Amino acid sequence: MFAEDVPLARIAQEVGTPVYVYSRATLERHARVFMEAMQQAGDVDVAFALKSNPNIAVLKVLSRMGMGADVVSSGELDRALAAGMTADRIVFSGVGKTDAEMSHALDTAIGQFNIESEEEGRDLAALAAARGQRAPATLRVNPDVDAGTHAKISTGKAENKFGVAISDAPGIFARLAAMPGLNLRGVALHIGSLIADLAPMEAAFTRVGRLLVELRAAGLTITHVDLGGGLGVPYRPHDVLPSPFEYGAMVARVTQDWDVKLMFEPGRVICGNAGVLLTRVIRVKPGATHPFVIVDAAMNDLARPALYDAYHHFEPVVASRAAMTANIVGPVCESGDTFATAREIGGVVQGDLAVFRTAGAYGATMASTYNSRAMVPEVLVDGARYAVVADRIAASTIMGAERVPDWL
Ligand SMILES: *Cc1c(COP(=O)(O)O)cnc(C)c1O
Repeated sequence: MFAEDVPLARIAQEVGTPVYVYSRATLERHARVFMEAMQQAGDVDVAFALKSNPNIAVLKVLSRMGMGADVVSSGELDRALAAGMTADRIVFSGVGKTDAEMSHALDTAIGQFNIESEEEGRDLAALAAARGQRAPATLRVNPDVDAGTHAKISTGKAENKFGVAISDAPGIFARLAAMPGLNLRGVALHIGSLIADLAPMEAAFTRVGRLLVELRAAGLTITHVDLGGGLGVPYRPHDVLPSPFEYGAMVARVTQDWDVKLMFEPGRVICGNAGVLLTRVIRVKPGATHPFVIVDAAMNDLARPALYDAYHHFEPVVASRAAMTANIVGPVCESGDTFATAREIGGVVQGDLAVFRTAGAYGATMASTYNSRAMVPEVLVDGARYAVVADRIAASTIMGAERVPDWL
């Protein structure tokens, strides 16, 4: 198995395992396909959702493709800038922006704040006015639709913490638009992640279309609508998802009369299938029902299975052995550290290399050092060459940042 022209076995040999491996060509292809598909709806802005993969080399690839950045913290803002994204292409989302974060974003003169509540809008307006600035902003609305995804990544239901209720939006919009510190120019929404069906998105966008009519009827000026991210990707070999082209066609149809600049915040669809987590089998242990394939990657390296019961396809790097049915687990001391149960896989034995596929999004970005394991490294492949784009951080280095007070 290769990443572009580089054998995965070579990366495992030279960098060690576990390690995330990304393909530059795939990132570029996904970025191009997505941006072209959205252009069915006219001249659009696409901001990559950093939280899905904030590695600065990955960001550099995407920024060179013409993508901006959707950030949710000061740390992500700094990463976007470090990767060469210009401040005016950066959108700041997130339900808990602190005053310090908003001040930092104002100092950097980012392109847009997506305001999540009237309270936040007032705070931002005050900070901007004190600097003699007018913060470019949209109001994030919660359209109350069920995105049909996992509860932990659904964000557009009334009970979710995100945005303001769409029924309250006209009043809140009018009050915030009157504040001198804000250039409130539109609305934003993002109904969830890993969406496998366009119908809830279309329902949400249609509600936003009605809101635009209402806001304009009230004399308010709307020039921008940010439709968020959320498009899913195939995780299983036979998954069929709406393509970016189908998504773009739906958007073009629903928004044709809106007369706004459309913005998008894709994350997973750009980087999910551009990366694998490369791991080595530590050993195979007999189990009550199925053998346990114990790999050297664990829930601290790839949290999605433990967090969302997510499926990641597992495949040996060399497919030479008879198929087997196994539980695939990591070494962490929790039963939650399980990647797959009773999974039919290509056979593996001690020492074999394997990959978890579709690990480029919400993989390394969620990694931790739980169980005092090392921080997992990342590699970017480009044709026949590769580079380590995030070092493995040894457990001893992490420990080096801890202190024992002199009263102990
Ligand atoms: C997480 C997030 C995204 C990206 O979601 P994907 O499912 O990765 O496309 C976009 N916008 C906002 C506000 C988010 O929180």
